[in-house]
Formats: sequence, structure tokens, C-alpha cells
Amino acid sequence: MEWPPATLPYPLPFTLGHETAGWVEAVGAGVPTFRPGDPVLVYGPWGCGVCRRCAQGAENYCERAAEIRAAGGGLGRDGGMAEYMLVPSARFFALAGRLIARYIEP
Ligand SMILES: [Zn+2]
Repeated sequence: MEWPPATLPYPLPFTLGHETAGWVEAVGAGVPTFRPGDPVLVYGPWGCGVCRRCAQGAENYCERAAEIRAAGGGLGRDGGMAEYMLVPSARFFALAGRLIARYIEP
């Protein structure tokens, strides 16, 4: 993938935040692997999900990245620097277990 110098390769606006962790608020139909309240890490690169490299689990090398004009949450699509983040597929989640802790207001 090659972008012209000094240009942002994504259409604006979008919310930044490509390294995201948090708790599932809700899940869509057909998502049996995660439940509300689960602590999760969000995989950064979001590819098309169907090209050869995505099929190999290498969505960071998606062959259609330039075509879809986004590389993931916070990279052309709304990311995690917001109260809520919409993640389009359960394949972008990993259970965080005890790796993240809730911030408690003093
Ligand atoms: Zn792809």
C-alpha cells in the first residue's frame, strides 16, 4: 500500500484511538462468543475479511486497504477515544481476562 506524501489516507472526520481495550456493552445477533461486561482488547487493523491475507489472519496486510479507505478503528473508522466504540465483527476482539482494570473515580 502506498499513499501520496503528506496526505492522510483516510476520509475525515473519524474518532481517533487504534489501541483499544474496554468492556462489551452489547453484542449483535449471532455473536455467541462475547457477552455484555466481558473485558476485551480490540485488534487494531480491520481488513476486508475476505481477501487472501485477511483469510490468513493478517488483516494488517489487507489487499483491499486502499479500496476500503480505512485500516481499522481509529484508522479511518471511528476508534476508541470515545465513550463507546462500534466494532463491526467479533473477530476483532480478544478476551482481556484480568489484563485491564476498571478505573474508579475518586
Ligand atoms: Zn482484506
